[in-house]
Amino acid sequence: MTPVAAPKMIHAKAPGKINVFLKVGALLDDGFHDVAIAYQAVSLYEEVRAYEADDFSIEVAGSVELSRVPVDGSNIAIKAARLLARRTGYRGGVHLEIGKHVPVTGGMGGGSADAAATLLACDALWGTDLPRDEMLALATQLGADVPFALTGGTAIGTGRGDQLSPALAKGQFQWVLVIADFGLSTPAVYSELDKHRDRHSQDIFPAVSQPFVDANVLQALRAGDPHMLAETLYNDLQAAALHLEPSLASVLELGEENGALAGVISGSGPTVAFLAADLDNALELQIALSAARLNVVRATGPVHGARLVNL
Ligand code: ATP
Repeated sequence: MTPVAAPKMIHAKAPGKINVFLKVGALLDDGFHDVAIAYQAVSLYEEVRAYEADDFSIEVAGSVELSRVPVDGSNIAIKAARLLARRTGYRGGVHLEIGKHVPVTGGMGGGSADAAATLLACDALWGTDLPRDEMLALATQLGADVPFALTGGTAIGTGRGDQLSPALAKGQFQWVLVIADFGLSTPAVYSELDKHRDRHSQDIFPAVSQPFVDANVLQALRAGDPHMLAETLYNDLQAAALHLEPSLASVLELGEENGALAGVISGSGPTVAFLAADLDNALELQIALSAARLNVVRATGPVHGARLVNL
């Protein structure tokens, strides 16, 4: 009897990210904002296994709360696979198995990491061999954070966050992340920021239309100095996220009382990222926050972007 060949499978992984710095520009006529972001990819990875198939399907498992992850064509990983097939003229499909380890609707770009890993995995599975610049263009079409999930490391994103330039970063930073048991919708947080700016238009400077990343952030990253970086952590969305979820303020306080150099809400939240001075400091902080019954994980950054595994 001839053995039945196992379907060909390609395994890829891509990291979640922390926004070390996030400035949001004024509301534009199209309803969006330009942003200036310093991204750092961290060691929490999404895993994607892509199997040969005639049509498109997806299964999701993992270590984080999964109830908000769609398992139909609205999943960004399926959208990524279909987009690549359309772009390259590939006529088959794929079965995707996603292993999620980045908190869902957590402000850490988990969906974007799934999309980036799926693009790489399907390109290898189908042998479509898309040039890197074309893959980055597809990533931009899928979402503003997807190009960064492909490139990883530390980078500055402008425009919608998708115009990337690499930033020099020395050494490894130690992060302690507090993961909420609820999500925050990115559009809801941006809309809360617009309302906040309207309410306080008399007492705050109007936002510029094209924000930029402070030179101090770039200097701290280049120096690889967590104390310097702690001074520059900044997120324009933080006030809006706190307004929507006031309980996050006590999480920020608790981390800072327990030795974090500084804390910041990552992206649109609700994940709170604490920067630690070194590994010992990170471990102590992890223990203290876990004792307060928070869901805590440690991560280091920067790490590489989406990669194929074992090829
Ligand atoms: P970002 O930081 O990029 O704004 P996020 O980390 O806050 O994103 P994600 O977990 O990436 O949020 O995406 C959350 C939203 O996207 C949810 O509304 C979810 O239903 C939808 N979604 C679609 N595909 C996925 C996916 N593969 N993983 C997680 N969420 C997905």
